[in-house]
Amino acid sequence: MCIFALQFTTAIIKTTNIMEILSNRILNMAESETLAMTAKARELKAQGKDVISLSIGEPDFNTPEAVKEAAKRAIDDNFTHYPPVPGYPDLREAVCTKFRRDNGLEFKPEQIVVSTGAKQSIYQLVQCLVNPGDEVIIPTPFWVSYKEIVRVAEGKCVYVKTSIENDFKVTAEQLEAAITPRTKLIMFSSPSNPTGMLYSRDELRAIADVVMRHENLFVMADEIYEHINFVGKHESIAQFADVKERVITVNGVAKGFAMTGWRIGFIAAPTAIAKACNKLQGQVTSATCSIAQKATVQAMLMDPATSQDIINMRETFRQRRDMVYQLLREIPGLKVRLPQGAFYFFPDVSAYYGKSFNDKIIENSTDMAFYLLNEANVATVMGSAFGDDDCIRLSYATSEELLREALRRIKEALANLK
Ligand code: GLU
Repeated sequence: MCIFALQFTTAIIKTTNIMEILSNRILNMAESETLAMTAKARELKAQGKDVISLSIGEPDFNTPEAVKEAAKRAIDDNFTHYPPVPGYPDLREAVCTKFRRDNGLEFKPEQIVVSTGAKQSIYQLVQCLVNPGDEVIIPTPFWVSYKEIVRVAEGKCVYVKTSIENDFKVTAEQLEAAITPRTKLIMFSSPSNPTGMLYSRDELRAIADVVMRHENLFVMADEIYEHINFVGKHESIAQFADVKERVITVNGVAKGFAMTGWRIGFIAAPTAIAKACNKLQGQVTSATCSIAQKATVQAMLMDPATSQDIINMRETFRQRRDMVYQLLREIPGLKVRLPQGAFYFFPDVSAYYGKSFNDKIIENSTDMAFYLLNEANVATVMGSAFGDDDCIRLSYATSEELLREALRRIKEALANLK
């Protein structure tokens, strides 16, 4: 009986157009290309291909020992029940301590909401702020998921194009020109994913001045790469007292503490916005994993100025960055900027567009990423995913040996394009 019922259901699903089953919301949403390229690389590796993945932005280090010990203690101490929706009180206190120590920012625990990764933090924020038709300014290139997160909320993405010549940074004048009475939010990351560029204090001040000229305009400052900064002090736009009530700072432990799998992100926001995100989270995940939260308390105690774990990771990234920069500069035709933070290069490869290999013409960044994957066995991410089709993204969060080999293959593959 059951088997017949199952066969019947399967038959209905097979014969019904899938477009009629799924919501428009999900049908209209693009897949995350960073994750898709990574999955593709994994698939090819599983088939026995010697693929080097420079696609995902994930530190190749292990989580610091002290953090792992804290997680083990949390299990032994039976932190295995539902935590409070926005996070354990000691974690929210520890996050406030982090903002005071690292950024000179004062927040109260009720302004902090801890979520399952910075991606969920951003998703919830946009759901809480953006009404259908509201405009969200996203300087390009941007991190892949901003666009789809805004689109799911039925917001309108307003892209402001930056250029490699301007270090991929948006100017105050460009922002001012893009603002309309419907503009609700500006979203950007610094250090930037995908470009690795940082906004200086003066540049952030100029952006804050623009924001202050418009009512009900908010800023989402994504600072997840804060600790991977090679040029000096991290600057937060929330440091300016006048604009602080309009800024939602997003951060987490994935990148700076090599804790991608623990899935912990957080916001520091005006209280009303934090409360709204808390309400939404209560209906979505209830809270974030109790063990990961306790591990994060330990991570928050680590002072990035003195923690050997954080310093070693940053230094290793800096050495790799310098090495990859030299190797990229040896490849004819590429335009490359030296990143100041994060662990990505975003070279302009458009000089190769119009060239071909085995009669297949490389017309755009998707063709280029697939050409490099199929012919050079190197996984990258197409720049179009980040809103800039002239470029591709390379993550250098992998060993020097693999990076050298990947860059050798890329150079050879590009030389084969005629
Ligand atoms: N944020 C990382 C990246 O850009 C991780 C993957 C993702 O969530 O997009 O590669």
